[in-house]
Parts: sequence; C-alpha cells; structure tokens
Amino acid sequence: MQRRNVIVVGAGPVGTVAALACARHGHTVTLLEAQTRIDDSPRASTTQPPTLEMLAELGLIEEYLSVGLVSRTFQFWDRPSRQLIAEFDFARLKGETSFPYVVQTEQHKLANMAIARLRRMENAEVRLGERVTGIAQSADAVTVATPRSTIEADYVIGADGGRSTVRKALGIEFEGYTWPERFLVITTKFDFQAALGCCLRTYMEDPGEWTNLFKVAGDDLKGRWRAVFNTREDEKDEEALSDAAVRARLSRIYVPERERDYLHLNLYAVHQRVASHFRRGRVFLCGDAAHVNNPIGGLGLNCGIHEAWHLSALLNRALRGENADLDDYEKTRRPLNIKYVQEQTVANKKRLEEREPAQRAKRFAELRAMADDPERHKAFLMRAALLERS
Ligand SMILES: Cc1cc2nc3c(=O)[nH]c(=O)nc-3n(C[C@H](O)[C@H](O)[C@H](O)COP(=O)(O)OP(=O)(O)OC[C@H]3O[C@@H](n4cnc5c(N)ncnc54)[C@H](O)[C@@H]3O)c2cc1C
Repeated sequence: MQRRNVIVVGAGPVGTVAALACARHGHTVTLLEAQTRIDDSPRASTTQPPTLEMLAELGLIEEYLSVGLVSRTFQFWDRPSRQLIAEFDFARLKGETSFPYVVQTEQHKLANMAIARLRRMENAEVRLGERVTGIAQSADAVTVATPRSTIEADYVIGADGGRSTVRKALGIEFEGYTWPERFLVITTKFDFQAALGCCLRTYMEDPGEWTNLFKVAGDDLKGRWRAVFNTREDEKDEEALSDAAVRARLSRIYVPERERDYLHLNLYAVHQRVASHFRRGRVFLCGDAAHVNNPIGGLGLNCGIHEAWHLSALLNRALRGENADLDDYEKTRRPLNIKYVQEQTVANKKRLEEREPAQRAKRFAELRAMADDPERHKAFLMRAALLERS
C-alpha cells in the first residue's frame, strides 16, 4: 500500500492550496479529486488582502494577478434611487498589508494554477476522477479508500466541499440552517461601470430585492459582470431561471432592453453551517467541508484558504517531529469562523434586505459617517478584509 505524509481530499481552491502548501514544506502529498476536471461554474472570486499574502508566499501571486482584476474600492448603493451611498477604499490599509486591494479572480483559476504547480513537484501527486469513498484511522495512520486504490497517510485534510464525504465518514454534525430563498447569479457582458458609474464590487440595497455586482476577467480576460440577486422565498427554480424573470431582474438594475442578454445563470441554495468539530484524530476539515455561509462580503472561501495555510504549517511542524499542538487548529479556527464569517455574513445579508424605511435611512447615514471618518473607515475595512484576525 502506498504511504504518504498528507492526503488532501478535494481539489477545490482550498484543497489545492492545502496540498501545495504541504508539498512546498517538502512532504509527500496526494491530492484526490472526484471530478475529472475542475468545476468552472461562477462561484467565488473575491480575494482579500491576507489571502493575497498567502498566495504570494506560495509563489502564485503574479499568475493570479495576471488572470484577475484588481479592485481597490467597494461601494454601497441605494438601488431604487440609483444613488451611491458610500465608498470604501482599501488604499487606507497601506502599511497593514502588502496588498491594499482585493483581487477578483475566479476560483477555478486558482485551483487549476495550484494543480499545475503540484504536477511539477516530485513529492506531489494529483489524481483527478478518483472519488474518496471511505476513511479509517488507527493511532499512527489514516487509510483512505477510493474505488481504485487504498492509500495510507500520516494525516488527511478533508477539503471536499459542503457535502463532504470526509465529514460524514467521521460522523461530524454540520450545525446551522439553510435560508428559504436561493441566490441567482446572472453573468453578462453589460458594462455596469460605464453605464452606472459604479465600481467593480458594488452592493445595491433594496427592500424587495437586492443586487451585488462584481466584475471578473473571464477565461478570455475580456471582462464580464456577475449580478447576484436573492429570489423570493416562494419563487420556484423554473421561474427564477426563466428568460422573462432574468430579463426583468436585469431591467431592475438599469440594463436597457436591447442589452438584456446574458452568458450564464447559476441558482443555488444558501446555508449558514459550521461543523461541530474541525478535527478527529489524524483527519482535519478545511473550507466548505468545515463551514458554509452566504457569500455576501466574500469571506467564506478566504477563510477556508486561511485554514489551509494554518493547518499546513501545523502539520509541517508535526511531521518534522517539532512541538505542534494539533488541537490548536480547531480551537482557533472554529470560533474564528463563527465570529468573523458567520456573524458578519448574516449581518451583511440582513442589512442588504432591510425593509423598514427609517432603518434604511439610519443605515445609510451610518455608512456615510463611517466612510467620512478615517479611523472608522479603516476599522471597517480591517474587519471586512479579515485582517483584524487572519
Ligand atoms: C453554486 C455556488 C455558488 C457560489 N457562489 C459564491 C460566490 O458568489 N461568492 C463566494 O464568495 N462564494 C460562493 N460560493 C462558495 C464558494 O464557492 C466556496 O466557499 C468554495 O468553493 C469553497 O472551496 P472548497 O475548496 O472548500 O470547496 P469546493 O470548491 O466545493 O471544492 C470541493 C472539491 O472536492 C471534490 N470532492 C467532493 N467530494 C469528494 C470526494 N468524496 N472525493 C474526492 N473529491 C471530492 C469536489 O468535486 C470539489 O472539486 C458558492 C458556492 C456554490 C456551491
């Protein structure tokens, strides 16, 4: 039976970063991915400053920047009146980070570039199309089974997404709830920056239906926009995905009738859940396998990458026989996700959908006051960028 230092299950952005970080520490690593190619449907793209610092240390930053878009600012708008309420500028974080901006790079690009690096390393192995079906562990090894092979390792990182086989095999609860509405992502070539004067990350608040606008480079690097909407709670999937409903949504974000074509639709259920444990023996959970949240604020995937980073450093010490408190991973990362990701994303969502006019007016006044006050502006960004605790 093959024996490795680390097996990573799942070649999403978190698993690939975990595998690359462990391999760069010099350990033997096998990355197992169920699919034969990396899913390139529109998912996360916002990469926060501390994550960029990690990608720089992994030697990926130049390539990452070359296929993404730098976004220094983000804005809040009142959608019904088409008014800019406040703008926040990451340039205020100069001195706190080498990357005072976010980068919008689609997550499949990160996974593919990390896989390409792993394939060039002698101590790393990437196996696509090999689904993990079972895990067993003893005091000194973990055994991972796939339909094709059985591999033994010192440690296993389960980065196999929200429906994690690894988490289920360990009998770990995924505590939390699912929101009644779904989120719809419409990808379009319509240029919102030119038409509305908004920036590349724009949050449009509206009592009935909010919209978040993001520009990404696209695989052709020609640029496209993703407009994310909430559905009505009683809206059926077929209705939300119907051409008429999609065009109506585009009309509500001021796209002229003749330009309401779209490239792609993505409708998905949104959850707030955290695994009751992030570690069992020699097996650890990372990324969506450990927690899922609504995407408002671009925090979940960033947090997952920070976990991959933290865990690979701990496993490196343990594999070198140095003093490593492996319990520190769950002790640190679980409360951090609850406080900085779950709480913030729930609050972000509630603010976007506030219906009460007086509360909306108060919120807008608060945002403007915060943007105008240099100290509060910076404090807000430190938290929003996960720099306060990364
Ligand atoms: C439809 C959708 C849209 C989203 N949109 C946004 C967004 O707009 N903004 C945002 O910030 N976040 C968004 N997210 C969340 C974001 O995509 C995730 O946080 C991110 O993908 C987490 O990365 P990950 O590597 O932990 O997991 P994933 O990206 O889910 O990767 C897990 C990998 O594990 C593989 N796998 C699963 N089971 C096995 C197995 N048994 N054996 C081997 N491999 C396995 C899967 O094939 C997959 O490649 C979205 C998520 C979804 C599902």
